[in-house]
Amino acid sequence: MDIIPFNRPSLAGSELDYIRDAVEGGHTSASGPFTKRAAEILRAALGAQEAILTTSCTDALEMAAMLLDIGEGDTVIVPSFTFVSTALAFARQGAQIRFADIEPTTLGMCPNSVESLLDGSVRAVVPVHYAGVGCDLAGLAAVLAGRDGIDVVEDNAHGLFGAIDDRPLGSFGRFSTLSFHETKNFICGEGGALIVNRPDDVARAHVLRDKGTDRYSFLLGDVDKYTWQDTGSSFGMSDVLAAYLFGQLEQREAILAKRRALFERYERLLAPHAERLGFRLPVVPPGSSSAYHMFYVLMADVKVRDRVLAGMHEVGVRATFHYVPLHSSPGGQRFSDVVSPCPVTDDVSSRLLRLPFFNDLSEADADRVAATFLEVAEGV
Ligand SMILES: *Cc1c(COP(=O)(O)O)cnc(C)c1O
Repeated sequence: MDIIPFNRPSLAGSELDYIRDAVEGGHTSASGPFTKRAAEILRAALGAQEAILTTSCTDALEMAAMLLDIGEGDTVIVPSFTFVSTALAFARQGAQIRFADIEPTTLGMCPNSVESLLDGSVRAVVPVHYAGVGCDLAGLAAVLAGRDGIDVVEDNAHGLFGAIDDRPLGSFGRFSTLSFHETKNFICGEGGALIVNRPDDVARAHVLRDKGTDRYSFLLGDVDKYTWQDTGSSFGMSDVLAAYLFGQLEQREAILAKRRALFERYERLLAPHAERLGFRLPVVPPGSSSAYHMFYVLMADVKVRDRVLAGMHEVGVRATFHYVPLHSSPGGQRFSDVVSPCPVTDDVSSRLLRLPFFNDLSEADADRVAATFLEVAEGV
């Protein structure tokens, strides 16, 4: 039986040549020549003040938490329907976490739910652009308007090169973060980036990346020796991985075009059967452009979803579920000071099914995925 995996990393251009160049060039630690080139693509694309490559998106979120001096007594609001890191990066700084529900259209954080969780202890709100579609940032801005001291950090692990009204996802918050983990759109094994959108945060971000030292100013020739200045950690990406990432980012148009074509193919094949079989496909609101991170289907209920997943696995098609809600997880309860129900999260999490989705999935395999899905869904 031929297995179609859920995800398979692939090369898009000159990654291997660049990795060799990085090793032979002798600068394999952080802040090397490929780091500079990859970061500049990101900085320019997002119109940011600075893009800092990190060892992961989790680390970039930790840097954001440190840059905001989040600590004990502070509260951070995150969606319940997200990856653990969105919450963990702030919890480990000592913050209490409150979990907002998502809204049913984009599956992004619901502004009304955020509003119900606001009080004087809230220091940051961390929206996620699920599947690469922008969440309701205008709604969020309206809810936060007139409240001082609350910063937005976009966890943009899914949304690189997506936009709302032509404004890039990741350019709205004071900070945003990216992931280049092997399951994401652009990859280097493990990696991430912190996007800095305010000029007065840039210098300190470099210090935190460099173990709390002013090494970056030293390398620029701004100081004549470098020394310990602040908190921080070893957050910088190796230039070997930055070389891999640069090879991917150079091919961003081609990668996005492939993902878009695959998304539209699934949509075309499945949409005619949605009503009859009781499922719904992803919605991209008017004005939004998707980063095409994934293709999900919302099934009628949890029983149907689980049976379809099992049926597809039996014939070698590796569809999967997604986030287990954080608000009811042991970690979520440990780090949260209030119990907040998230009914939409619970419902969506139980019904959501993701189809295999990766850059090099062939048209024939995509057709087999769609046909298998329909056949199994028809039978349950
Ligand atoms: C993948 C992901 C992360 C974590 O990314 P790493 O680079 O693996 O740390 C964080 N948030 C979201 C929404 C993700 O999808």
